[in-house]
Amino acid sequence: MTRIAIMGVAGRMGRTLVEAVGAVEGLTLAAGIVESGSSLAGVDIGELAGQGRLGVVASDSLAAVVDDFDVVIDFTAPQVTLANLALCAEHGKRMVIGTTGFTPEQLEQLDGYRDSVPFVFAANMSSGVNLTLKLLETAARALGDAGYDIEIIEAHHRHKVDAPSGTALAMGEAVAHAIGRDLATHGVFAREGQCGPRTDKEIGFATVRAGDIVGEHTVMFATEGERIEITHKASSRMTFAKGAARAAEWLSGREVGRYDMQDVLGLK
Ligand code: NAD
Repeated sequence: MTRIAIMGVAGRMGRTLVEAVGAVEGLTLAAGIVESGSSLAGVDIGELAGQGRLGVVASDSLAAVVDDFDVVIDFTAPQVTLANLALCAEHGKRMVIGTTGFTPEQLEQLDGYRDSVPFVFAANMSSGVNLTLKLLETAARALGDAGYDIEIIEAHHRHKVDAPSGTALAMGEAVAHAIGRDLATHGVFAREGQCGPRTDKEIGFATVRAGDIVGEHTVMFATEGERIEITHKASSRMTFAKGAARAAEWLSGREVGRYDMQDVLGLK
């Protein structure tokens, strides 16, 4: 049995993960962590997630439960995730990371743990999105240099704090990589006022934040006379939670290294 700790267990993803991890044979819920000083410390994590009593109470420190788990699943915030990677390196633990919104410097720090922690890091843990990334590579190779403009539109709920979404950026990277463009040079993240006509090679991003949208992404390849749209719509956070649980199970036998969902799903 692989013992799982859920970081940020009171969050939207944290609560969904309690149900998803509980449903996977081979995984056992061993710990749930809430923010330091939270009044939810000491509450049963099953009750917190609306799953009934599970006999595991929330702790307000990952370090305090470090002997209780093998893999920590972390969907919180970049600085929290980086601190947890340091703890995992020190104690020989594994990590599944779903947190998004890292700065380039923070991403570099995260990557530095590839030699000391076995971890899976993916901006989107759903199987559908990871398959979509493959479809996008194929489409970009066929169309990207054939006069098709590439635009990425994403929509999420009103509480999301980073933009564009980590998934939109991953889609942009997949497309750019497939046709030898650099997203740092060709990505256009805002258009306002007299910004002039679009250039041929730019990859544009547009962001919608509204209501309770779980996550929608469309990549558009448009030219004179036609356009192709590849769209993924998530209707429940359970798709991400199931992917994270699957990643935790997959990770238990792995060597130190940085992996992504394409590794977990065998799409490479
Ligand atoms: P949320 O705000 O509902 O949950 C985050 C939780 O983390 C909160 O409950 C907060 O209290 C907790 N937290 C923060 N600091 C903590 C600390 N030091 N110790 C313990 N808990 C702490 O947000 P959410 O919608 O669940 O999203 C969380 C992250 O996951 C975001 O970065 C989001 O973009 C990302 N996300 C990724 C995927 C994916 O598939 N990779 C899917 C959905 C969301």
